Amino acid sequence: MRTIMLGAPGSGKGTVATKLAVVYDIPHISTGDLFRHHIKEHTSLGKQAETYISAGKLVPDEVTIGMVAERLQESDCADGFILDGFPRTINQADSLDVLLAKDGRAIDLVINLMVSDETILSRISGRRVCASCGQIYNMKTQPSREDGICDLCGGSLTQRADDAPQTVLKRLETYRVQTEPLIEHYTEKELLLEIDNEHSSAITVQTIVAFLAGLH
Ligand code: AMP
Repeated sequence: MRTIMLGAPGSGKGTVATKLAVVYDIPHISTGDLFRHHIKEHTSLGKQAETYISAGKLVPDEVTIGMVAERLQESDCADGFILDGFPRTINQADSLDVLLAKDGRAIDLVINLMVSDETILSRISGRRVCASCGQIYNMKTQPSREDGICDLCGGSLTQRADDAPQTVLKRLETYRVQTEPLIEHYTEKELLLEIDNEHSSAITVQTIVAFLAGLH
């Protein structure tokens, strides 16, 4: 299964993708996570990406596409993958098609998670991430057992730098202008599945699994 998760920042792509990756035993590839890893490791790619990320802008396509191309060549992607946060532009989508076609591969499904603007803002402002293992929490809806401490590994919970209010507004604008056109793009290709992710990611995952089971 080669899948793309689409949706605005805060729509729950990471949470749903993590669960689907477990169900189908395929890698969850988040370009945001890959960039954050590079930034943490002070690589040259990380240095290039950081300026754009902290401004709420997209990292240039040539940097992003090269990073994804490398990741998709890894052996764990042979039976499929879930892309989260990529593609984010029509140019990235076209490049992805070309890249996969070289190995006779293609995208099977694009899942668009739909949530209200109100929910997006509330999710992002409450989002906390474990600095050690990356587990995602929400202070209001999904808090850790002990304040500021990860349930899974005991690491400290932090707010992503780009979740600060002024950067969030810029990220949402970037999404509307550069990424939202992908909804029409994938509708035309008859690959789009739209799912309401306003309430529970568990129900969203069940709906996706049932949909996929119905295809076979
Ligand atoms: P995310 O964790 O998906 O919200 O991504 C965090 C940030 O990383 C985004 O706001 C962008 O600055 C950058 N980023 C992630 N994926 C991409 C992409 N496909 N193209 C360009 N920039 C990206």
